[in-house]
Order: sequence, then structure tokens, then C-alpha cells
Amino acid sequence: MPQRWRTRSETAWVLHRKAFGEADVLLEMYGQHLGRFRALAPAGRKPGSRKAGHLDLFGEVRVQLAQGRNWWVLTQAEVQTWHPRLRTDPQAFLAAGQVAEMVLRLVPEGERVPGLYPLLAWAFGRIASEEGEGVRWAPRVAAWHLMRLAGFGPQWARCVRCRAPLTPGRPKFLDVREGGLRCADCGSPTLPRVSDRAWAVLLAWSRKPLHEALNPPPAPDLYPELEALERAYVTFWLERPLQTWRVNRQMRREP
Ligand SMILES: [Zn+2]
Repeated sequence: MPQRWRTRSETAWVLHRKAFGEADVLLEMYGQHLGRFRALAPAGRKPGSRKAGHLDLFGEVRVQLAQGRNWWVLTQAEVQTWHPRLRTDPQAFLAAGQVAEMVLRLVPEGERVPGLYPLLAWAFGRIASEEGEGVRWAPRVAAWHLMRLAGFGPQWARCVRCRAPLTPGRPKFLDVREGGLRCADCGSPTLPRVSDRAWAVLLAWSRKPLHEALNPPPAPDLYPELEALERAYVTFWLERPLQTWRVNRQMRREP
């Protein structure tokens, strides 16, 4: 009697694609129910393959999966959400790539993190949208949300040392190890200072619902400070910088 394969259907975001064998594609996906999983798309690279066009990076697909030996095997795919700009605009592609890379670094295979699926939907949608500078700011918002969902803090309302509420007008210092800010009394000149304006943005992002996070977007001159704080924090907790930052720097011709 032929062995009956365990099958299931799932809706998932495509986070990474890798060529596999002659014509197959190995996909890293994040599913609504399965969380992070791998799926092999047989013949996913053949020209004219019915599945190939449905498996674009950063797209949301409805898939039928059969349990394989090492990973799921994709038997059907149907596109649910697809943002063309994420494929055609290099900045949008990199911005979406940073979000995807953070998920792959933070979430082990087989794990599901509550709140992550809608965060991906929001982030890819805002990055692809023409309004509100989503391509610049949505990855910033998503990065801090991902750190929080993964259990790495951060704490913006109180000092991580003495627990005193932080207030405007007094110096604040970023302490990545402790996962937040130190107040003026607990601060140290060796730690990076955080301006009141950047602090207000970070605090608002941690409190507002996602769909309101970029209404309005932060002032453009805050971008370098917010990006530097994010990189310091993410690099410490992920133990090395993201690859997408390096590509981004090369594109902007920074050292
Ligand atoms: Zn303190």
C-alpha cells in the first residue's frame, strides 16, 4: 500500500529562496500556523513552472504542503499578497530583506512567535507603499517590534538600572546589554547618548498600534540617530551585524 503523506495547507510569507539541485527551490517561509519552516518547491526554477511565479520573495502565498523527510514539499501555491515594488525598487527590496533577515536570525525553525505574522504583513505593505516614507521607516519600526517579540526588550519608559521613570530634558544613555536606557544618575560617558527627540519616537513606536506607528513619520533629521541606535542594539543581541546593512552601505557607497 502506498504510504500516505501527511499534508496540510498554510498561508505563509516567503522570506528566502535558494536554488536547490537541478531546478528546485528551497524556501524559508513564515506561516500563520507553522511559524518558521522550510519547504522545497520541486521544479520551482523551470521556466513556465506554474509554481515559480507564485513564490516570489516577500510575497504571501497559500500553499499545499506534503511532509517530506527533511522539510515540507510544496505541491501547490497560490499568491495572496504581492507587492511589485519590493522586486523593482532596490531600496524597497533591501528594506524588506532586512526584515526577513531579522526574522530568520531571531526565530528558530519550527517556532511560531505570536504577533509576528501580522508584523510581516504590515512591514512589507508599508515598505511597498509610496506614502509616509515607509521604505525608510517601516524597517526601523519592524526591527524594534521584532526585538520585543523575540524577548530582547527594549525598555524605553524606565531606567534599566534604577527603574526610575525617564523624563524629557535629562540625559539618557543606551545600554544594549541591559536592554534599554539608563537615566542621568545611572548613565556613563562611555555609553551612547540618546536625544529626547529620538527617545520620544522610540517610546511612541513601542506604545502605538502598528497601523498608527508612522502617522506621522519621524522628522527626517532623526534618521541617522535612530538607525545608529537600532544597529547597536540589533548587533549586540544577534551577535553580529545584518548582511543587508553591508549591502545597503555598498549601495550608498559608504565605507
Ligand atoms: Zn537610573
